[in-house]
Amino acid sequence: MITKDKIIMSLRGVKEPFFQKDFIQMNLIDVDLLENNINIKVYLKEEVFDKKEEIEKKIQEKLKIAFGEQIGNVNIEFIKVSDYSQVRRRVKLEVLDSKKANLGKVIAVTSGKGGVGKSTISINLALSLRELGFKVGLLDADVYGPSIPTAFGLEGTILEIRDDKIQPIEKFGLKLVSIGFMIPEVDTPLIWRGPMLHKAINEMVNQVDWDSLDYLVVDLPPGTGDAILSLNNSVKIDGAIVVSTSQKVAAADVMKNINMLKTLSIPIIGIVENMSFIECKNGEKIYLWGKGGVIELAQKYDIEFLGEIPFIPNVVQTMETGNLVMLTEQTKNIFKEFAKKVINRLNVISVS
Ligand code: ADP
Ligand code: MG
Repeated sequence: MITKDKIIMSLRGVKEPFFQKDFIQMNLIDVDLLENNINIKVYLKEEVFDKKEEIEKKIQEKLKIAFGEQIGNVNIEFIKVSDYSQVRRRVKLEVLDSKKANLGKVIAVTSGKGGVGKSTISINLALSLRELGFKVGLLDADVYGPSIPTAFGLEGTILEIRDDKIQPIEKFGLKLVSIGFMIPEVDTPLIWRGPMLHKAINEMVNQVDWDSLDYLVVDLPPGTGDAILSLNNSVKIDGAIVVSTSQKVAAADVMKNINMLKTLSIPIIGIVENMSFIECKNGEKIYLWGKGGVIELAQKYDIEFLGEIPFIPNVVQTMETGNLVMLTEQTKNIFKEFAKKVINRLNVISVS
Protein backbone atom coordinates (compact mmCIF):
# COMPACT_ATOMS: atom_id res chain seq x y z
CA MET A 1 0.00 0.00 0.00
CA ILE A 2 1.20 3.51 -0.76
CA THR A 3 1.44 5.74 2.30
CA LYS A 4 2.56 9.30 2.79
CA ASP A 5 5.58 8.12 4.80
CA LYS A 6 6.61 5.72 2.06
CA ILE A 7 6.37 8.48 -0.53
CA ILE A 8 8.53 10.74 1.59
CA MET A 9 11.07 7.97 2.10
CA SER A 10 11.14 7.26 -1.63
CA LEU A 11 12.11 10.88 -2.34
CA ARG A 12 15.39 10.57 -0.48
CA GLY A 13 18.22 11.68 -2.73
CA VAL A 14 16.29 14.32 -4.63
CA LYS A 15 18.39 17.33 -3.83
CA GLU A 16 17.53 20.97 -3.50
CA PRO A 17 19.94 22.49 -6.07
CA PHE A 18 20.98 25.57 -4.11
CA PHE A 19 22.03 23.90 -0.86
CA GLN A 20 22.62 20.43 -2.31
CA LYS A 21 20.68 18.79 0.52
CA ASP A 22 17.69 16.48 0.27
CA PHE A 23 14.37 18.30 -0.15
CA ILE A 24 12.79 16.03 2.40
CA GLN A 25 15.54 16.63 4.92
CA MET A 26 15.05 20.34 4.42
CA ASN A 27 11.28 20.06 4.84
CA LEU A 28 10.61 21.66 1.49
CA ILE A 29 8.12 19.14 0.16
CA ASP A 30 4.46 18.71 1.06
CA VAL A 31 2.87 15.42 0.11
CA ASP A 32 -0.84 14.73 -0.19
CA LEU A 33 -2.25 11.34 -0.98
CA LEU A 34 -5.77 10.72 -2.17
CA GLU A 35 -6.45 7.06 -2.95
CA ASN A 36 -3.45 6.36 -5.12
CA ASN A 37 -3.15 9.84 -6.54
CA ILE A 38 -0.26 11.85 -5.30
CA ASN A 39 -0.09 15.63 -5.03
CA ILE A 40 3.31 17.04 -4.31
CA LYS A 41 4.20 20.64 -3.59
CA VAL A 42 7.82 21.59 -3.93
CA TYR A 43 9.06 24.89 -2.56
CA LEU A 44 11.93 26.26 -4.60
CA LYS A 45 14.09 29.34 -4.23
CA GLU A 46 13.85 31.77 -7.12
CA GLU A 47 17.57 31.49 -7.85
CA VAL A 48 17.14 27.85 -8.81
CA PHE A 49 13.55 27.88 -10.02
CA ASP A 50 14.68 27.09 -13.55
CA LYS A 51 15.78 23.65 -12.33
CA LYS A 52 12.19 22.59 -11.81
CA GLU A 53 11.88 20.31 -14.85
CA GLU A 54 14.96 18.40 -13.79
CA ILE A 55 13.62 18.02 -10.26
CA GLU A 56 10.22 16.93 -11.50
CA LYS A 57 11.85 14.24 -13.62
CA LYS A 58 13.84 12.97 -10.65
CA ILE A 59 10.76 12.84 -8.43
CA GLN A 60 8.85 10.89 -11.08
CA GLU A 61 11.73 8.46 -11.41
CA LYS A 62 11.98 7.90 -7.66
CA LEU A 63 8.23 7.28 -7.38
CA LYS A 64 8.33 4.84 -10.27
CA ILE A 65 11.17 2.89 -8.66
CA ALA A 66 9.37 2.78 -5.32
CA PHE A 67 5.82 2.06 -6.43
CA GLY A 68 5.87 0.98 -10.10
CA GLU A 69 2.41 0.59 -11.50
CA GLN A 70 0.66 1.08 -8.18
CA ILE A 71 0.57 4.85 -8.45
CA GLY A 72 -2.24 6.79 -10.03
CA ASN A 73 -1.87 10.39 -11.08
CA VAL A 74 1.11 12.31 -9.90
CA ASN A 75 0.68 16.04 -9.77
CA ILE A 76 3.76 18.07 -8.95
CA GLU A 77 3.43 21.76 -8.25
CA PHE A 78 6.39 24.11 -7.83
CA ILE A 79 6.07 27.13 -5.61
CA LYS A 80 8.58 29.93 -6.01
CA VAL A 81 9.81 31.42 -2.74
CA SER A 82 12.37 34.12 -2.01
CA ASP A 83 13.69 32.28 1.01
CA TYR A 84 12.90 29.04 2.72
CA SER A 85 12.55 30.08 6.32
CA GLN A 86 8.77 30.54 6.48
CA VAL A 87 7.94 27.31 4.70
CA ARG A 88 10.40 25.32 6.70
CA ARG A 89 9.27 26.69 10.00
CA ARG A 90 5.65 25.80 9.27
CA VAL A 91 6.29 22.29 8.03
CA LYS A 92 8.78 21.52 10.76
CA LEU A 93 6.87 22.84 13.72
CA GLU A 94 3.74 20.92 12.81
CA VAL A 95 5.67 17.68 12.96
CA LEU A 96 7.93 18.33 15.88
CA ASP A 97 5.90 20.18 18.43
CA SER A 98 3.78 17.12 18.96
CA LYS A 99 6.83 14.98 19.68
CA LYS A 100 8.68 17.20 22.11
CA ALA A 101 7.34 15.95 25.37
CA ASN A 102 9.71 16.48 28.26
CA LEU A 103 12.85 17.88 26.78
CA GLY A 104 12.55 21.42 28.02
CA LYS A 105 14.45 23.92 25.92
CA VAL A 106 16.77 22.39 23.36
CA ILE A 107 20.06 24.25 22.90
CA ALA A 108 22.32 23.29 19.99
CA VAL A 109 26.00 24.14 20.37
CA THR A 110 27.54 24.63 16.93
CA SER A 111 30.70 25.85 15.24
CA GLY A 112 32.06 26.26 11.77
CA LYS A 113 35.15 24.24 12.56
CA GLY A 114 36.52 21.77 15.06
CA GLY A 115 38.72 22.44 18.03
CA VAL A 116 37.17 25.78 18.97
CA GLY A 117 35.67 24.53 22.21
CA LYS A 118 32.17 23.34 21.41
CA SER A 119 32.41 20.36 23.72
CA THR A 120 34.05 22.38 26.47
CA ILE A 121 31.28 24.95 26.27
CA SER A 122 28.49 22.36 26.03
CA ILE A 123 29.76 20.48 29.06
CA ASN A 124 30.35 23.54 31.20
CA LEU A 125 27.08 25.12 30.15
CA ALA A 126 25.25 21.94 31.17
CA LEU A 127 27.09 21.79 34.51
CA SER A 128 26.36 25.47 35.17
CA LEU A 129 22.68 25.14 34.35
CA ARG A 130 22.60 22.22 36.75
CA GLU A 131 24.28 24.29 39.46
CA LEU A 132 21.70 27.00 38.88
CA GLY A 133 19.11 24.42 39.89
CA PHE A 134 17.80 23.14 36.57
CA LYS A 135 17.27 19.60 35.33
CA VAL A 136 19.67 19.20 32.46
CA GLY A 137 20.42 16.65 29.77
CA LEU A 138 23.58 16.65 27.67
CA LEU A 139 23.59 14.98 24.29
CA ASP A 140 26.86 14.46 22.48
CA ALA A 141 26.06 14.21 18.79
CA ASP A 142 29.61 14.67 17.52
CA VAL A 143 29.88 11.56 15.43
CA TYR A 144 33.43 12.32 14.36
CA GLY A 145 34.83 13.07 17.80
CA PRO A 146 32.55 12.44 20.74
CA SER A 147 33.99 14.11 23.85
CA ILE A 148 31.57 13.20 26.59
CA PRO A 149 32.82 9.66 27.23
CA THR A 150 36.32 10.97 28.01
CA ALA A 151 35.33 14.19 29.73
CA PHE A 152 33.07 12.30 32.14
CA GLY A 153 35.37 9.33 32.55
CA LEU A 154 32.86 7.02 30.87
CA GLU A 155 34.76 5.36 28.03
CA GLY A 156 33.42 1.99 27.00
CA THR A 157 30.01 2.65 28.55
CA ILE A 158 27.08 0.92 26.92
CA LEU A 159 23.60 2.31 27.31
CA GLU A 160 20.96 0.15 28.89
CA ILE A 161 17.48 -0.21 27.44
CA ARG A 162 14.60 -0.44 29.86
CA ASP A 163 10.87 -0.41 28.99
CA ASP A 164 11.80 0.21 25.35
CA LYS A 165 13.63 3.40 26.30
CA ILE A 166 17.35 4.10 26.23
CA GLN A 167 18.53 4.96 29.74
CA PRO A 168 20.87 7.96 29.93
CA ILE A 169 23.91 7.79 32.19
CA GLU A 170 23.74 10.03 35.23
CA LYS A 171 26.86 11.81 36.39
CA PHE A 172 27.45 15.08 38.25
CA GLY A 173 23.68 15.53 38.28
CA LEU A 174 23.41 15.50 34.48
CA LYS A 175 21.68 13.01 32.22
CA LEU A 176 24.16 12.04 29.53
CA VAL A 177 23.92 10.36 26.17
CA SER A 178 26.76 10.25 23.67
CA ILE A 179 26.99 8.97 20.16
CA GLY A 180 30.16 7.38 21.54
CA PHE A 181 27.88 5.11 23.57
CA MET A 182 25.79 4.24 20.50
CA ILE A 183 28.20 3.66 17.64
CA PRO A 184 31.28 1.62 18.49
CA GLU A 185 34.14 3.97 17.76
CA VAL A 186 37.14 1.83 17.11
CA ASP A 187 35.77 -0.58 14.55
CA THR A 188 33.21 1.51 12.68
CA PRO A 189 34.72 3.12 9.59
CA LEU A 190 33.84 6.77 9.06
CA ILE A 191 31.91 6.00 5.90
CA TRP A 192 29.36 3.95 7.87
CA ARG A 193 29.02 6.53 10.55
CA GLY A 194 27.27 9.02 8.26
CA PRO A 195 24.25 6.86 7.44
CA MET A 196 23.98 5.68 11.03
CA LEU A 197 23.99 9.26 12.17
CA HIS A 198 20.42 10.26 11.39
CA LYS A 199 18.96 7.22 13.08
CA ALA A 200 21.25 7.60 16.07
CA ILE A 201 20.46 11.30 16.54
CA ASN A 202 16.76 10.71 16.27
CA GLU A 203 16.98 7.88 18.82
CA MET A 204 19.10 9.93 21.18
CA VAL A 205 16.46 12.64 21.20
CA ASN A 206 13.22 10.75 21.03
CA GLN A 207 13.90 7.34 22.49
CA VAL A 208 15.93 8.25 25.52
CA ASP A 209 14.26 8.28 28.87
CA TRP A 210 15.15 11.92 29.57
CA ASP A 211 12.41 12.07 32.17
CA SER A 212 11.55 15.74 32.32
CA LEU A 213 14.24 18.25 31.60
CA ASP A 214 14.46 22.01 31.78
CA TYR A 215 17.29 22.12 29.23
CA LEU A 216 18.79 19.71 26.74
CA VAL A 217 22.23 20.82 25.57
CA VAL A 218 23.37 19.26 22.30
CA ASP A 219 27.05 19.17 21.35
CA LEU A 220 27.14 18.98 17.55
CA PRO A 221 29.98 18.08 15.20
CA PRO A 222 31.63 21.07 13.49
CA GLY A 223 30.47 22.44 10.19
CA THR A 224 27.29 22.44 8.21
CA GLY A 225 26.92 18.71 7.84
CA ASP A 226 24.08 16.28 8.30
CA ALA A 227 24.04 16.21 12.10
CA ILE A 228 22.35 19.58 12.47
CA LEU A 229 19.85 18.65 9.75
CA SER A 230 19.08 15.40 11.53
CA LEU A 231 18.70 17.13 14.87
CA ASN A 232 16.55 19.80 13.30
CA ASN A 233 14.32 17.12 11.84
CA SER A 234 14.14 15.21 15.11
CA VAL A 235 13.25 17.95 17.53
CA LYS A 236 12.35 21.60 17.70
CA ILE A 237 15.60 23.41 18.48
CA ASP A 238 14.89 26.40 20.70
CA GLY A 239 18.18 28.10 20.05
CA ALA A 240 21.71 27.63 18.78
CA ILE A 241 24.96 28.88 20.21
CA VAL A 242 27.77 29.60 17.77
CA VAL A 243 31.23 29.01 19.21
CA SER A 244 34.24 30.65 17.65
CA THR A 245 37.76 31.68 18.36
CA SER A 246 38.86 35.02 17.04
CA GLN A 247 41.36 34.02 14.38
CA LYS A 248 40.70 35.70 11.08
CA VAL A 249 40.65 32.36 9.31
CA ALA A 250 37.60 31.35 11.32
CA ALA A 251 35.41 34.11 9.87
CA ALA A 252 34.45 32.22 6.72
CA ASP A 253 33.50 29.15 8.74
CA VAL A 254 31.45 31.21 11.15
CA MET A 255 29.63 32.82 8.26
CA LYS A 256 28.71 29.43 6.79
CA ASN A 257 27.62 28.27 10.21
CA ILE A 258 25.36 31.29 10.71
CA ASN A 259 23.90 31.03 7.21
CA MET A 260 23.08 27.39 7.82
CA LEU A 261 21.23 28.20 11.04
CA LYS A 262 19.34 30.99 9.30
CA THR A 263 18.42 28.73 6.41
CA LEU A 264 17.09 26.15 8.81
CA SER A 265 15.19 28.85 10.75
CA ILE A 266 16.94 27.90 13.95
CA PRO A 267 16.86 30.85 16.34
CA ILE A 268 20.38 32.01 17.19
CA ILE A 269 21.07 32.56 20.88
CA GLY A 270 24.35 34.25 20.07
CA ILE A 271 28.01 33.83 19.38
CA VAL A 272 30.64 33.27 22.06
CA GLU A 273 34.35 33.90 21.66
CA ASN A 274 36.28 31.06 23.26
CA MET A 275 39.93 30.97 24.31
CA SER A 276 40.13 34.69 23.61
CA PHE A 277 42.72 35.72 26.20
CA ILE A 278 44.95 34.53 29.00
CA GLU A 279 44.77 36.40 32.24
CA CYS A 280 48.14 36.95 33.90
CA LYS A 281 48.67 36.99 37.66
CA ASN A 282 48.76 40.80 37.62
CA GLY A 283 45.35 40.89 35.95
CA GLU A 284 46.69 41.78 32.51
CA LYS A 285 44.84 40.11 29.65
CA ILE A 286 46.82 38.79 26.73
CA TYR A 287 44.62 38.37 23.68
CA LEU A 288 45.85 35.30 21.86
CA TRP A 289 44.48 36.10 18.44
CA GLY A 290 43.81 39.79 18.60
CA LYS A 291 40.91 41.51 20.29
CA GLY A 292 37.41 42.09 19.04
CA GLY A 293 37.28 39.75 16.04
CA VAL A 294 34.16 37.91 17.09
CA ILE A 295 32.24 40.91 18.33
CA GLU A 296 32.81 42.44 14.90
CA LEU A 297 31.37 39.34 13.26
CA ALA A 298 28.40 39.43 15.62
CA GLN A 299 27.66 43.01 14.61
CA LYS A 300 28.10 42.24 10.95
CA TYR A 301 25.55 39.41 11.09
CA ASP A 302 23.35 41.13 13.62
CA ILE A 303 23.52 38.39 16.20
CA GLU A 304 23.98 38.62 19.95
CA PHE A 305 27.53 38.59 21.31
CA LEU A 306 27.64 36.32 24.36
CA GLY A 307 31.03 37.44 25.56
CA GLU A 308 34.55 36.12 25.85
CA ILE A 309 35.69 32.98 27.60
CA PRO A 310 39.38 33.03 28.49
CA PHE A 311 41.88 30.29 27.87
CA ILE A 312 41.79 28.37 31.15
CA PRO A 313 44.70 25.92 31.38
CA ASN A 314 43.02 23.66 33.90
CA VAL A 315 40.02 23.13 31.61
CA VAL A 316 42.13 21.04 29.25
CA GLN A 317 43.18 18.76 32.05
CA THR A 318 39.69 18.26 33.45
CA MET A 319 38.33 17.44 29.99
CA GLU A 320 40.95 14.80 29.44
CA THR A 321 40.82 13.11 32.81
CA GLY A 322 37.09 13.05 33.45
CA ASN A 323 37.67 15.07 36.61
CA LEU A 324 35.26 17.88 35.87
CA VAL A 325 34.78 18.42 39.58
CA MET A 326 38.35 19.75 39.65
CA LEU A 327 37.25 23.00 38.01
CA THR A 328 38.04 25.98 40.20
CA GLU A 329 35.35 28.28 41.59
CA GLN A 330 36.66 31.05 39.37
CA THR A 331 36.24 28.92 36.27
CA LYS A 332 32.81 27.78 37.35
CA ASN A 333 31.76 31.39 37.75
CA ILE A 334 32.85 32.27 34.23
CA PHE A 335 30.63 29.55 32.84
CA LYS A 336 27.80 30.34 35.22
CA GLU A 337 27.69 33.92 33.97
CA PHE A 338 27.66 32.58 30.45
CA ALA A 339 24.80 30.20 31.32
CA LYS A 340 22.76 33.07 32.72
CA LYS A 341 23.19 35.00 29.47
CA VAL A 342 22.02 31.96 27.54
CA ILE A 343 18.91 31.59 29.71
CA ASN A 344 18.06 35.26 29.29
CA ARG A 345 18.52 35.14 25.54
CA LEU A 346 16.36 32.01 25.26
CA ASN A 347 13.59 33.83 27.07
CA VAL A 348 13.90 36.78 24.72
CA ILE A 349 13.94 34.60 21.61
CA SER A 350 10.98 32.50 22.66
CA VAL A 351 8.67 35.48 23.04
CA SER A 352 9.78 37.26 19.89
P1 ADP B 1 35.48 21.13 19.83
O1 ADP B 1 34.43 20.37 20.56
O2 ADP B 1 34.97 22.39 19.20
O3 ADP B 1 36.24 20.32 18.85
P2 ADP B 1 36.90 21.10 22.36
O4 ADP B 1 35.90 21.57 23.35
O5 ADP B 1 37.18 19.65 22.32
O6 ADP B 1 36.55 21.65 20.90
O7 ADP B 1 38.22 21.94 22.62
C1 ADP B 1 39.42 21.72 21.88
C2 ADP B 1 40.61 21.76 22.84
O8 ADP B 1 40.70 23.05 23.40
C3 ADP B 1 40.47 20.80 24.01
O9 ADP B 1 41.73 20.31 24.33
C4 ADP B 1 39.93 21.68 25.13
O10 ADP B 1 40.29 21.18 26.41
C5 ADP B 1 40.60 23.00 24.82
N1 ADP B 1 39.79 24.14 25.26
C6 ADP B 1 38.57 24.51 24.83
N2 ADP B 1 38.14 25.63 25.42
C7 ADP B 1 39.11 25.98 26.30
C8 ADP B 1 39.27 27.08 27.23
N3 ADP B 1 38.37 28.03 27.36
N4 ADP B 1 40.43 27.10 27.92
C9 ADP B 1 41.38 26.18 27.77
N5 ADP B 1 41.29 25.15 26.91
C10 ADP B 1 40.17 25.04 26.19
MG1 MG C 1 33.85 18.40 20.36
